[in-house]
Amino acid sequence: MDKKIDLINKALNDLEKNLFSCSLCPRKCHVNRGKGEIGACGVGALPVVSSYSLHFGEEPCLSGYYDYNENKKTQSSLCGSGTVFFSGCNLRCVYCQNYQISRHINGSIFSVDDLASAFLSLQKRKSLNINLVTPTHVIIPILKALKKAFEQGLSIPLVYNTSAYDSYETISKLNGIVDIYLPDFKYFNKNTSLRLSNAPDYPEKAADAIKEMYRQVGNLEIDDEGNAKKGLLIRHLVLPNHVDESCQVLEWIAKNLLNDVSLSIMSQYYPCYKAPEDINRRIFAEEYATVLKKAEKLGFENVYTQPAPFQSKDHFIPDFESDDVFPWNHG
Ligand code: SF4
Repeated sequence: MDKKIDLINKALNDLEKNLFSCSLCPRKCHVNRGKGEIGACGVGALPVVSSYSLHFGEEPCLSGYYDYNENKKTQSSLCGSGTVFFSGCNLRCVYCQNYQISRHINGSIFSVDDLASAFLSLQKRKSLNINLVTPTHVIIPILKALKKAFEQGLSIPLVYNTSAYDSYETISKLNGIVDIYLPDFKYFNKNTSLRLSNAPDYPEKAADAIKEMYRQVGNLEIDDEGNAKKGLLIRHLVLPNHVDESCQVLEWIAKNLLNDVSLSIMSQYYPCYKAPEDINRRIFAEEYATVLKKAEKLGFENVYTQPAPFQSKDHFIPDFESDDVFPWNHG
């Protein structure tokens, strides 16, 4: 871990100036978060953590427990992804399923020591990885906490679970520190990203960030127990009435990365928060099938899929205002 600690020191050296004039992400708010000013992400210098726990609802290679494709539980010597949910978000989608923590700031302010303890406690509970959910806007305290945790024996893979509204400059500093990048690639058209996330530059910024992630970690590497150790896994959430755009995202990935990159094509969309009329329903089975067919046609072989929830009232929306954030996690 000495090498990772050296890399963290270097990254902090390069990134800490953002505490006083923040351009950690493409919003480039230039607020002084060190003095308590708040930018578009809604959080100051210290992270607000809404929850940290073992989570079994990620892809099987990350959760090691629930197999979406087989629709059954599987056992592993380790179990659960050690998810840390950070409040605030720099993307701000109008349909966000986590709006209780992304748009409203909910949770507890964590010191660097608190955060290091959380990472170590998840490892102690045998989590497969540390899964940083929406980390970009609080990457500076995260790096400081990781340094402490590495010094105290943290050794499981680190997952960077992001909307991909990331700047190349910030992601490039994480080379050698992050083991698994888990970016969404949400939109291909800037009109869509403007309308749904107020981020017209999302497609180009996400593309640049994902290319850099791929350069750093390459294809997903999975061990004999089926657990991810390193690499890139790109998520794409299919939205209602946006199948053509989903296909364009897949075409971009096939052209600019390789079609042996791992994908997670998600059907779980459920309208939340302020979802506008055109996305105010679940996706149809035909829409999901069209996107999967496109992935097959493009030659993608490593694709996680989800069961069809199309007409179901069941959903996997966490309730961060409840004591039981992930009720489907039990059992
Ligand atoms: S991380 Fe937050 S404050 Fe910094 S540029 Fe992005 S949205 Fe603005």
